[in-house]
Amino acid sequence: MDTVRKDHLSCYGYYRETTPNIDKIAEKSIIFKNAYSCAPWTAPSHASIFTGLFTCQHGTNQENQFLRKRLLTISEILTNRGYETVAFSNNGTISSHTYFDQGFSNFFDMWKDLYKKKYAYGIQDAGAFATEQEIRNWFNKKRNLKRPFFMFINYMEAHSPYNPPDTYKWLYTEQEDSLSKYIIQYDYIDYLAKKYKMLKNDFEISKALYDAEINYLDKKIGDFYNYLKEKKLLENTIIIITSDHGEQFGEHGLIGHQFSVYNVLLKVPLILYLPKKYNININEDNFIQLLDIYSTIINFTDSKVSNFIDIQSISVKNNKSRNYIFAEYYKPEKYINEFKNRYPDFNALRYNQRIRSIQHENFKYIWTSNSYDEFYNILIDEQEKNNIISLKKENAGNLKNILNQWFINNKSKFIEIDKKKEITNKELIEKLRSIGYIK
Ligand SMILES: [Zn+2]
Repeated sequence: MDTVRKDHLSCYGYYRETTPNIDKIAEKSIIFKNAYSCAPWTAPSHASIFTGLFTCQHGTNQENQFLRKRLLTISEILTNRGYETVAFSNNGTISSHTYFDQGFSNFFDMWKDLYKKKYAYGIQDAGAFATEQEIRNWFNKKRNLKRPFFMFINYMEAHSPYNPPDTYKWLYTEQEDSLSKYIIQYDYIDYLAKKYKMLKNDFEISKALYDAEINYLDKKIGDFYNYLKEKKLLENTIIIITSDHGEQFGEHGLIGHQFSVYNVLLKVPLILYLPKKYNININEDNFIQLLDIYSTIINFTDSKVSNFIDIQSISVKNNKSRNYIFAEYYKPEKYINEFKNRYPDFNALRYNQRIRSIQHENFKYIWTSNSYDEFYNILIDEQEKNNIISLKKENAGNLKNILNQWFINNKSKFIEIDKKKEITNKELIEKLRSIGYIK
């Protein structure tokens, strides 16, 4: 799922029953309560899932939106293990144009069809319906039954603009005359430059529409789950339901999912459905990050190979919990240029910066390149409202040092080679060999 906040799913305690179908799957699954994305937006977050690396390692960020071909992706590993690997992406950021297709034997740029058909961004169905058709088509006509399969799906329903199908639109709000504003106009630049205001009630309407989108997506995910059940695939299929990041509704004066690494963006749902044959003990309170999906899949698909890769991604199968949670954000060049174009007098310094964060036990340190650093006791201040950086200098300094050291140790370790360089089959074999997968 794209842009689905953890705290807006009913299985995570949300007051609205937004996700009855996912809730049912969750009842039979492991529901991780402390799962964090590695970045607050789509490209780097997906790159972490695909490569098992943090942003500073895989190098996909605002300053380079491509997935580097030198990296070994989960689909490359699984293709090499004899899996059929297929992807359906409704987000243009995750596409064959940005090399996110590497390793997949079939990659469906679903977003392209939507654009061609002029449904475009902001249509009532942001691709889930067409994806459902294409998935069934793949299972019925294209799948090689002799091979196991790995399927990746990105659903864009919850991403702004929030425009749910008519039958869902009025689930949580009756304020019809206010709707058009949130369907058409959801603009980071105008909002941050204070060109229009969102009042408390405006955010309530936004959330109601966002929740309706989640409820529609939940229906589609439920249909997909039932389809797998009908096909008798559930006994032997692992399902991971997660989201690449959350969404801001006015918290810290922000909307959307840019310009910050607050937990409203980093805390994500993560539900792991395991067929009955896996009888393992995994603590749902373990702290994990989305890059751990990579090692988890590797671990579950080949029990002989568990920790062969010298990366920080951990397999949740091993029941480990992270000591530290890291996140990164790079300079949002696209938005800064947009500020300059539209409002040359607006001072965008607060937004034109790199941000990194570290979380450990009760505390979270946020480093920013323009020196707006913050420090929170998230145990008593979950919403990160009370910056105690000047009160807790020693604690803050300690975490800042660990964050610095972590960044220095890890940055660009995996991406020294030219990002545009094509990788050949020979090089892929070399890649697999270098990490010990083949001899
Ligand atoms: Zn996203």
